[in-house]
Amino acid sequence: MWGWLRRRPREIDLAMWQQCCQRAPWLHGLDAPRRERLRALSARFLHEKTISPVGDLQLDERDGVLLAALCCMPLLELGDVGLRGWSQLIVYPDAFRVQRSHVDAAGVLHEWDDELIGESWDSGPLILSWADIQADIADPHAGYCVAVHEMAHKIDALDGAIDGTPPLPRDWQRQWASDFQAAYDAFCAQVDAGRDTLIDPYAAEAPEEFFAVVTEYHFSAPDVLEQAMPTVAAHLRRFYGESPGLSANNQPSAAAPRITTPR
Ligand SMILES: [Zn+2]
Repeated sequence: MWGWLRRRPREIDLAMWQQCCQRAPWLHGLDAPRRERLRALSARFLHEKTISPVGDLQLDERDGVLLAALCCMPLLELGDVGLRGWSQLIVYPDAFRVQRSHVDAAGVLHEWDDELIGESWDSGPLILSWADIQADIADPHAGYCVAVHEMAHKIDALDGAIDGTPPLPRDWQRQWASDFQAAYDAFCAQVDAGRDTLIDPYAAEAPEEFFAVVTEYHFSAPDVLEQAMPTVAAHLRRFYGESPGLSANNQPSAAAPRITTPR
């Protein structure tokens, strides 16, 4: 019994939690029960994950609560099972460079640098750019939220395959796979034809990026997602719960779309 008690996460202080909810615009629209659920999930997150700032980035306890809350938003319905399989959140001050390599069909090695604002390693850390989290908060209804994007990759990986389909009951999974494939194919055709899209064209990179990008829209611009892909929007409402971005405070962004960045 005592062992069980020791493993319980420490509750997040109410004043600190209220401050966090003020700071993250997407949380303004959460009703009281979901806010409490998110508070418990965030406490579990802080209990299980190490947050490692990089370089001279300084993060205090309040920043940790904010990061936990943003990462846990997509777990409101799924629960803390969505935290399985990894233990470290690395936070860079800004976008960061990674080296990539690929051997093509002819056996030629290609190497290049990518600049990323977030990354999720298979069974490894989740990585975020602090500057981009601040940019998401400053423009919360523009369709971007890098924290939920990377968490979508973690949720996608829970069933052992990163393919744009999270673990679901069998019938729903079949319907999801078919509806997402159709929406993805149509979206890629639009991007390939050089047409303007309502959704960030980065979603055409791969089915798993498509899932992660539409997840960002579910939380930060659900009306845009509903207009562009109503079937996908309905699946996400069922999976994540009603978007907190649908609150009366929702002010659609008038800003120009930000430059698409790999994440
Ligand atoms: Zn991604």
